[in-house]
Amino acid sequence: MKVKFWGTGAAEGIPCGFCGCPVCQEARRMGGRYQRTRAQVMIDDQLLVDMGPDTYTNANRAGYDLSQLENVLITHSHCDHFYPNELHNRQIEFSYDMKYPTLKLYGSQDVYDQYFNFMGADNVSNIGNISKSRGKYLIDQKRVALNVLEEYKTYDIGEFKVTPLPATHGGQPFVYIIEKDGKGIFYLNDCGTLKEEVFEWLAKSNFKLDLVIYDCTHAMRNTLTDQEGKYWSHMGQPNNIVTRQRLTEMGLCSDKTISVETHFSHNGISVGYGDFAPLAEKAGFICAYDGMELDI
Ligand SMILES: [Zn+2]
Ligand SMILES: [Zn+2]
Ligand SMILES: [Zn+2]
Repeated sequence: MKVKFWGTGAAEGIPCGFCGCPVCQEARRMGGRYQRTRAQVMIDDQLLVDMGPDTYTNANRAGYDLSQLENVLITHSHCDHFYPNELHNRQIEFSYDMKYPTLKLYGSQDVYDQYFNFMGADNVSNIGNISKSRGKYLIDQKRVALNVLEEYKTYDIGEFKVTPLPATHGGQPFVYIIEKDGKGIFYLNDCGTLKEEVFEWLAKSNFKLDLVIYDCTHAMRNTLTDQEGKYWSHMGQPNNIVTRQRLTEMGLCSDKTISVETHFSHNGISVGYGDFAPLAEKAGFICAYDGMELDI
């Protein structure tokens, strides 16, 4: 599988638009890998994971034609991962000649519910008398289809097999195991350390992981111990090391598994690209950056 990291930042991005902290000022000064849009990846040019507010810009930057896209996996309903207002532009007489006129979105019941909350009354259609329908017009027009997934079940989505697992985070979040062509990816962000029930379920599974994409919102912070676990809903590299160790002991990861860290926040410790990339490498991780591509 070909994995393209379109965005590698947390909710605020780096720099955060309104922030003057040293991390954000460094990112403005340095540009390039120091700047991070909101996290999302594209797999094999067929499956987009998360659709945050930078999707339009990231698609153009990657040279990707969104009119060719059919399937989008959503991890959770936080707006850096799911920004459905952009879908307004898919409606009839706004978008033409799409390869797949119906864009299929997949996520938890919470993602389904939040779609209708996010799509405010200003997102009305010009077509017919269906104003103030909070996004229903896109479903009626078959321009969007919402599919609710259940945890621990495996689904065929396009050419992929996708298994959602419950994550530790806000709302009803999922992390995903994504398989194709005999390869496995664990999309393990945006989230905190895995629940014990998930570790136990994984221990009984036969998944073989070629790539794990870890949450690294807090960079060098241990989110379970720092300030009495105040940061429990995200991970940092100390937590990723422990998680990788457990996945390896369970036989899901091996020394051939590629470990990537992403979803960085300016609130992290030593999070600037120049500081963190060497620390990641030293611990056997790849520090993701916007535009990074991996072939597994
Ligand atoms: Zn996030
Ligand atoms: Zn900042
Ligand atoms: Zn989140």
